[in-house]
Amino acid sequence: MRNLPIVISGPSGCGKSTLVDLLLLKDKTMCESVSCTTRAPREGEVDGREYYFITEREFKNRIAENDFLEYDEHFGNFYGTPRSFVERLLKEKSVILEIDVVGGLNAKRLMPETLLIMIVPPSEIELEKRLEGRGSEDKEKLAERLRRAKYELEQKPLYDYVIVNDDLDRALKELREVIDFERNKEK
Ligand code: ADP
Ligand code: 5GP
Repeated sequence: MRNLPIVISGPSGCGKSTLVDLLLLKDKTMCESVSCTTRAPREGEVDGREYYFITEREFKNRIAENDFLEYDEHFGNFYGTPRSFVERLLKEKSVILEIDVVGGLNAKRLMPETLLIMIVPPSEIELEKRLEGRGSEDKEKLAERLRRAKYELEQKPLYDYVIVNDDLDRALKELREVIDFERNKEK
């Protein structure tokens, strides 16, 4: 079985974190990369688990030192994938990168074996409901995330697989099957 970088993208609120957490619960041959971000932690988020929460100054220093495999700005904050962290993990496991479409395509350019999977909501209305239900953003930020969602969804054709997160168990099963298939494929 191959160890692959696996990008999981999709609009904010479509259920990426929920699916990845469930996927990793039972599979110890995969792990998740922890990105750095300058955004503030949400309630319940722990430094070093969901993200490394760092200052903008530190982020910019790390860009200058070429410490990020890729990075991008979303909603006024920076997000980046730590290069050495991912390279080290890949020696032992497949590594999941839960990053946006631009970051995903950059990762594929740098590591061509990268598997690109997009998670999409069953509908825009359902996405709005899930984002509201999560309760982590105010009205203005919510609207911004929904606008960005439209752009992300338009990038679907550039991805290897698109999985609709309608029923959580069904989507999880499909995600597992796609990853198993790709990891077991001959190079
Ligand atoms: P993302 O990581 O893509 O931003 P989350 O995993 O935080 O999204 O999910 C957003 C919200 O939607 C959460 O409250 C989560 O519990 C809920 N959710 C995720 N998947 C489903 C699903 N298949 N059906 C209904 N609600 C879901
Ligand atoms: P959130 O604030 O909801 O955690 O994340 C906002 C967006 O940033 C999501 O689309 C998420 O996929 C993206 N993101 C998280 N980490 C990274 C990263 O390291 N690089 C890039 N390019 N995007 C990221």
